[in-house]
Amino acid sequence: MGKKVKKEIKVIENPTEASESREDCIKCLLFQTCQTPFMKAYFPKGWTGKYLFVGEGPGKHEDEISYRPFTGDAGQLLVRYLRQTGFNKNQCAFSNAVRCRPINNATPTTAQIKACRPFILWEIEHYKPEYVVLLGKSAAKSVLGKIAKGSLGLLRGRDFTIEGIKHKPKVIVTYHPAAVLRGGGQYEPAILEDLARPGQANLQLPKDGFPKASRVGFDTEYYFRPSSPVKPVVLTTAISDSKTVKVYDKEELIKLKRYFE
Ligand code: URA
Repeated sequence: MGKKVKKEIKVIENPTEASESREDCIKCLLFQTCQTPFMKAYFPKGWTGKYLFVGEGPGKHEDEISYRPFTGDAGQLLVRYLRQTGFNKNQCAFSNAVRCRPINNATPTTAQIKACRPFILWEIEHYKPEYVVLLGKSAAKSVLGKIAKGSLGLLRGRDFTIEGIKHKPKVIVTYHPAAVLRGGGQYEPAILEDLARPGQANLQLPKDGFPKASRVGFDTEYYFRPSSPVKPVVLTTAISDSKTVKVYDKEELIKLKRYFE
């Protein structure tokens, strides 16, 4: 058997290189079936350099009507979450793991994500956002590569370094708002929680992998009051080991706090 030649990955490419003659684009071929091939990221006028949101790929609205990322139903929901958690319009730029709309809005394959990866890395390196917010698994796979295996829940709230580029933004991983639209109402509080993370400390990614089973768990439920969308109100906190769960409500938490002080 012949020796396998490892293909060199060219990390930085100018986005204008997306074309019908680019080797990876020819392999991917999504540009042939979508209406707006090679859709670029959207940076608002006067972008402050603060946040770059990365989604999965253009949907019908983006591909056929607006020609820019995050303007359809999922985009509108995201914008509502951003307003609710105190983001300003000129802080937020939007991009996608793949630039061409997948056929029938399918989840892009790993090969398609890899083919487009140089563009998103170029955008991060070139525009130098302070934060990169990865919405969903395709975005996490695109920007973080192999480290993004496993469930998205394991990636939330952790620190990551993006490999292959010099700029090192803070990375926030959360669910894609489309998951909420598909009936996953439970993802909404998680997304709102993650959008409130800038400025908060993240957990470090364990060096020796994620624990297989935990003996002690800790979970806090809270909600955002419409009158004060940035400050969450704690509802309950649960502490568990492998056999028992103890849930503390607000009154008990106040007692506990006094106990520990
Ligand atoms: N619109 C986008 O631009 N990206 C998504 O991931 C979803 C909708």
